[in-house]
Amino acid sequence: MDLLKQRILQEGIVLDGNILKVDSFINHQIDPILADEIGREFYKRFKDMKIDKILTIETSGIAFALFTAYHFKAPLVFAKKYPGKNISDEIYSSRVYSYTKQKEYTISVSCRYISSGDRILLIDDFLANGQAILGLIDIAKQAGASVLGAGIAIEKGFQPGGKILRNQGIRLESLVAIESFNDKKIIFREEEK
Ligand code: 5GP
Repeated sequence: MDLLKQRILQEGIVLDGNILKVDSFINHQIDPILADEIGREFYKRFKDMKIDKILTIETSGIAFALFTAYHFKAPLVFAKKYPGKNISDEIYSSRVYSYTKQKEYTISVSCRYISSGDRILLIDDFLANGQAILGLIDIAKQAGASVLGAGIAIEKGFQPGGKILRNQGIRLESLVAIESFNDKKIIFREEEK
């Protein structure tokens, strides 16, 4: 997706630890025009499937997931990272290791918002080691729902998440894939053009 590539090249900053900082349009300030384009693109790529629900993780994936959900006219559910009093006692939960924070945390979804038989599309901003998406798949399984695919805005192709998910037979669509950070220069994988 050229639009996203251009923004990454213009504004992305490669930090130590192979982290791409995109605070100016994804992770802190959000560009709604770009988020809408991303939602449309996910819709285009998965519209052959009947999707009942979009599932993502609190927080940064929510914007893309919401625009995707809007195009599917399907509800968006986000797994909570910080369950408070407003989440019911009946929850599905999974442990996720955070690549950026380097610690494990629990994600939870109320049993009211995913049901057995639901056909789910997962959306997230980044794919690195695949832990966040695997946590969401685990939650969908607990609910008896089926995961029809995963849409990722930025796949870091040099980390194993993409391979792990594709090997599990998950239909994975990445809008851009990064081949490497070569001396902090961003190199994209060619076929994602
Ligand atoms: P994974 O679970 O695949 O290892 O990592 C995916 C999650 O970690 C995403 O939800 C995203 O929030 C975060 N993440 C992983 N790599 C990066 C990165 O390079 N930049 C940013 N901003 N977030 C990342």
